[in-house]
Amino acid sequence: MLMSALILIVEDEPNLADVLEAYARQEGFHCEKAADGHTALTLYRASRPDLVLLDIMLPGKSGLDVLRAIRQDGATPVILVTARAEEADQIVGLELGADDYIVKPFRPREVMARVRAVLRRTANVPDSHDSTPLRVGPLEIDRRAVSASVQGQQLSLTPTEFRLLAHLAAAPGRAFTREELLAAALPDSDALERVVDAHLAGARRKLEAAGATGLLHTVRGVGYRLSA
Ligand code: CA
Repeated sequence: MLMSALILIVEDEPNLADVLEAYARQEGFHCEKAADGHTALTLYRASRPDLVLLDIMLPGKSGLDVLRAIRQDGATPVILVTARAEEADQIVGLELGADDYIVKPFRPREVMARVRAVLRRTANVPDSHDSTPLRVGPLEIDRRAVSASVQGQQLSLTPTEFRLLAHLAAAPGRAFTREELLAAALPDSDALERVVDAHLAGARRKLEAAGATGLLHTVRGVGYRLSA
């Protein structure tokens, strides 16, 4: 599945897009390319890629607009590509549910390592062999089905949000540090610890929208815990 994965490369600099495509093909991935946000969404809807490499600064519709539209549709892994000066956009992007980000300038080999890592993570949810559902208050997490629900209402979590909640729910009441959570949910990433905050902010919004308020607690000076 990993080797034949279809990657949608969204990048408006033609040389950069070509280099990424060449490396991706060398890795055995299939590729499609889009140079603007509108084309990206059209291709996304038509070909359902396994992963989207998404530049933020695009002509017309921005990468964040594209990400928002993809997330309304589902949990396809998205890696954002940003310039260092767009740090605020990275955080917004993670809050919108991006799975990782890469800062320009990058080495294409490093990008491919991240692509493989994100595909691996989204293909293998930890403890997915464990069929016992986890329950914390009204939240139920089925690791085998990779689904989370609040009183029967499905939550549309991103893969990273799911992994974080599943990790927390495996030990209700225990406070986890950001470092522990990062290691559990994004093991091959060099993401910063505040990335955990961005993903969990997204998870908390979805929990609260489903009526599960006061479940995910921020533990000052430590990190997070999940308890009813
Ligand atoms: Ca660009």
